[in-house]
Amino acid sequence: MENLELAIREIKEKLPGMTLLENEPMSAHSSFRIGGPARALAVPSDVTGLTRLCAILREHGTAPFLLGNGSNILFPDEGLPELLLVSTEKLQKIFLLPDGSIYAEAGVSLARLAAFACEQGLTGLEFASGIPGTVGGGLRMNAGAYGGEMKDVVDSVVYYYLPWQELFEIKNENCRFGYRSSIFQQSAGMAILSAVFRLPKGEKEAVSAKMRELNERRRDKQPLDLPSAGSAFRRPEGYFAAALIDQAGLKGFSIGGAQVSEKHAGFVVNRGGATAKDVHELMMHIRQTVWEKFQVALEPEIIILPPDYKLVDDSPVPKRNRVTETGMPTE
Ligand SMILES: Cc1cc2nc3c(=O)[nH]c(=O)nc-3n(C[C@H](O)[C@H](O)[C@H](O)COP(=O)(O)OP(=O)(O)OC[C@H]3O[C@@H](n4cnc5c(N)ncnc54)[C@H](O)[C@@H]3O)c2cc1C
Repeated sequence: MENLELAIREIKEKLPGMTLLENEPMSAHSSFRIGGPARALAVPSDVTGLTRLCAILREHGTAPFLLGNGSNILFPDEGLPELLLVSTEKLQKIFLLPDGSIYAEAGVSLARLAAFACEQGLTGLEFASGIPGTVGGGLRMNAGAYGGEMKDVVDSVVYYYLPWQELFEIKNENCRFGYRSSIFQQSAGMAILSAVFRLPKGEKEAVSAKMRELNERRRDKQPLDLPSAGSAFRRPEGYFAAALIDQAGLKGFSIGGAQVSEKHAGFVVNRGGATAKDVHELMMHIRQTVWEKFQVALEPEIIILPPDYKLVDDSPVPKRNRVTETGMPTE
């Protein structure tokens, strides 16, 4: 706590131009519209600002929490008085590289990325156009829909590794992508800054039509009119979470302001005034009911805060290569 206060003081002194929102209600930054105040939310205006901010935090032995669009997070009602979040919302550069691949910074929305690919006549990102996340959050979660996943389209990722305060580039094959998982979940210290996407040529009209079709399917099936964080649970092997929840008779079931969506049983929605406690209790109830009926254990897909914020590697900063092929820091 004390370390964080010292870090905040130093951020104000050394990075006076940086937006620093103190005691900021996280409900304003969460697609669930839930969450008490965090000690601070910093919004660096570029990649350099972000790395300088992270370096200050590291010097004080604290780690930030990277925030994309907040579309997969349940923030606690009591807030996060011991945490500084770093928003990527101003990291918005996106352009075509000479070899025809797309460079995008972490804060670019997946919708904008998909639209940009379409404008360039590139195919493969259609699946992402309706996912309300960012490049950073999407890569960390290996977000996916309608048969596509981030792992199918990304070529390489540049991240800042906090414990060593260095930049690394990691190739797709080393990102350990799996179902809604990636190497970036293995350490709170890996801040994704940008990524390169390599896509095959497509027919602009066909790409655009596919995006419209998928977004229509999404609007038909999902409760997009109510705040949520998408699918509450991961897909258990051999089952669909939504089907199990539906068959357990839980569609429409609610606790406080949190409800199992009447439209799509895989979503927990905020019907108005839901607290994190309501959502949490409802998810526990769903889990227990589904277990009792089907002996299938549901695991949350939503990130429920607070987690363990400790950096995985707190060893003294060693001298290493700036960029490695595997992306993981090595001797
Ligand atoms: C209506 C709705 C529909 C959805 N549909 C889908 C879907 O079809 N498929 C799907 O996969 N998901 C879906 N989601 C969930 C969510 O949109 C995705 O998980 C998305 O990838 C999260 O991105 P974000 O930018 O909002 O990340 P956030 O929610 O802000 O963060 C998610 C995680 O990523 C980390 N993170 C964010 N940025 C960075 C960064 N730059 N570097 C390192 N870590 C970072 C955060 O610390 C956090 O741990 C849906 C959500 C909603 C609300």
